[in-house]
Amino acid sequence: MDGSGRLAFRADVGIRDGKIIEVGEVEPDGGADLLDASGCVVAPGFIDMHGHSDYVLLVNPRAESKVRQGVTTEVVGNCGGSAAPSLGLEEDSNRRNAALYGLDVDWSTFGEYLRRLEKGIAINVAALVGHGTVRRCVMDLEERAPTQGELEEMRGLVDTAMREGAFGLSSGLVYPPGRYAETDELVELCRVVARHGGLYASHIRGERETMLKALREAIGIGEAAGVPVQVSHHPAKIGAWGRSPETLAMMDEAAARGVDVTCDMHTYIGGSTSLSALLPPWAQAGGPERIVERLGRPENRERMRRDMIEEKVPGPGPCGLVKRGMWDKIVISSYPEDWPIGRNMAEIATERGVDLFDAYFDLLAGSGAAGGVVGFYYNEEDIRNVLRHPRSMIGSDGYALAPYGVLGGGRNHPRSYGTFPMVFRKYVRGESRPELVYDEGAKVIALEEAVMKMTSAPAKRLKLEDRGLIKEGCYADIVIFDPDTVADTATYLDPYRYPAGIKHVLVNGVPVIRDGDHTGALPGKALRLESSDG
Ligand SMILES: [Zn+2]
Repeated sequence: MDGSGRLAFRADVGIRDGKIIEVGEVEPDGGADLLDASGCVVAPGFIDMHGHSDYVLLVNPRAESKVRQGVTTEVVGNCGGSAAPSLGLEEDSNRRNAALYGLDVDWSTFGEYLRRLEKGIAINVAALVGHGTVRRCVMDLEERAPTQGELEEMRGLVDTAMREGAFGLSSGLVYPPGRYAETDELVELCRVVARHGGLYASHIRGERETMLKALREAIGIGEAAGVPVQVSHHPAKIGAWGRSPETLAMMDEAAARGVDVTCDMHTYIGGSTSLSALLPPWAQAGGPERIVERLGRPENRERMRRDMIEEKVPGPGPCGLVKRGMWDKIVISSYPEDWPIGRNMAEIATERGVDLFDAYFDLLAGSGAAGGVVGFYYNEEDIRNVLRHPRSMIGSDGYALAPYGVLGGGRNHPRSYGTFPMVFRKYVRGESRPELVYDEGAKVIALEEAVMKMTSAPAKRLKLEDRGLIKEGCYADIVIFDPDTVADTATYLDPYRYPAGIKHVLVNGVPVIRDGDHTGALPGKALRLESSDG
């Protein structure tokens, strides 16, 4: 299955020096290393269009949870945050981020970071430079527009990163400092990106009630700056359920005007967050101890309840469920005691004979504000619509993790382990997995189309002319999988599980997964966008 979308055909694939040299009937040399792919699909390695492995790849370069899905290239630096540049006012916060993983920051520029990656990684990386990171370098977390001088400095940092190989600029406009940026600032920085031929990837300014407006802004930035737009993790969250026909039509209309807009997505209905993230912002201030203290006062609980229902500014996905009284779609995923784990908040309230909010407040106080939840705030119909649409490609929004070591805990979402196999299981074969709770399979796309959304479509987006296809002259990034059994096995309650059905994975011609096991090889490269600005 060559990744172009054409029907699969039977062929041998000959590889030499990291590249595909022959597709068809191949007569192997005497000393050739043969991989048996009988009964399997041989496809280009998957390109994860939206990842966050900037730091974790330096912690565990084997990229276990990604490469075992068949991912051979990941786009990092998303949602406005990248590991580089680490300069000026950003140095401290970058050091703090890295320290969470026990990592030392021994790079400053974007180029130095890419060279650091190249000391050894299992998969290829295409890195974006984060708008939030660039802004923090120059003006930290200041909630205001940049001065002319500051804007000039930011333009300079983006320009340097693009010269050093960045694939574009990402933004995260719901997080500080991204949300302090006006549209003009983003247009100015995107003009620099356009000059180098890069793209603008955006976690747009709202994915709930304000989604259409936020999407209009992203498209407008692309139009004004002359830059292609990649809308990150697209299907709408609660508050914008059912709006996918409109958002997709907006992208098509923009394309008809000459604005190049595409999007990426994973297909999980649920998102993970902390139990305390359901509270209004003021009630979360000061950390766990202060939260528990506040919950001890009835008048505080009254005010929290009021604000959670009113929710003046749309918060994270689970807050939209609370606002609408959809407590049955909020499931406890971690807790200091076993009893509530895997149960939804409505069940817990009924069993305890208390009102829903009090059940939540009691649970939160009882955990020392330490528990975690999964909120099912995406909508299956919208996910299917977006997946079906030719502008979508697959991006995990996850991390390259491993069930052992420093990366074995804390990041509580199965998408880091199962995003790509899930598409085959749930939307190609149409199989459901009851243990994922709201998981209803349906045959939505053909196998060839799914592979295309994971290979040639993202490769084209990134202007990677020699990846994303099984074709002579392309790099031998290859995944060999069983189309009948390939499936995610990770769940919300047990997210650290490798998928099934992935047999071999080659990166730059070197087997990283062989007969289902990691070989320890680190043949990945830090890819660089060839700047179109000389
Ligand atoms: Zn994001």
